[in-house]
Amino acid sequence: MRLYRAHAVVLRTHPIGEADRIITMLSPEKGVIRAVAKGVRRTSSRFGSRLEPFSVVDLQCYEGRSLDTVTQVSVIYPYHQLITRDYDLYTAGAVMVETTEKVAEDDEPNPRIYELLVGALNALSRRRHAPDLVVASYLLRLMTIAGWSPSWTVCAVCSNMITEPFFSVESGGVVCEDCLSPNAFNPGSEVIKLGAQLTKGNWEEADLAPPAIAHDLALLATKYTQWHVERKIRSVAVRERG
Ligand SMILES: [Zn+2]
Repeated sequence: MRLYRAHAVVLRTHPIGEADRIITMLSPEKGVIRAVAKGVRRTSSRFGSRLEPFSVVDLQCYEGRSLDTVTQVSVIYPYHQLITRDYDLYTAGAVMVETTEKVAEDDEPNPRIYELLVGALNALSRRRHAPDLVVASYLLRLMTIAGWSPSWTVCAVCSNMITEPFFSVESGGVVCEDCLSPNAFNPGSEVIKLGAQLTKGNWEEADLAPPAIAHDLALLATKYTQWHVERKIRSVAVRERG
């Protein structure tokens, strides 16, 4: 069995057997890793509470056929403690790690996704911006890395300038009145403006957004991301069956 070392963000854990847990993590070099942490649920565990969601760890694992096995772990950034202390931070972080797993799964490792996630968890844990803004910004930039960046200024279908701020998840962003799809909706011009600011990384302007607008954009970004993730999961399933 081959031993390897990696930095990783813990995305999710779930219990297995009497005292073990499967830890799902994202590493810059290896992508999504699934590894067993043996005895981690015992109070005497040598892993302690180091393998918890949001934390960034330095780990050593044995490579297995389907699951790896954690042999050593140390915490680099204890985001778990900082984020789970507050309900708003926790729900924001949960959306980010859950989406990341689905976007990164079955793909080549992408260090840019890892860096983006660590940066977002850092911003969240330090309350550098409103949690809704961190979520929206993270999801929009994740979509950009995945090649699904939404259009905010010109119609996603015909590239004409838009007059009313209609947004269509299926069409890939704002759409003009000629290209309206049945599911297009009008989230309001302030939400569209904020989406454009966050996509450009313009935090100075974005931080001034009213909380309700930030919340609506976070919902829009979540909806947009979910649609792409579901389409991706379906195409992976077709590939595996074929
Ligand atoms: Zn159009």
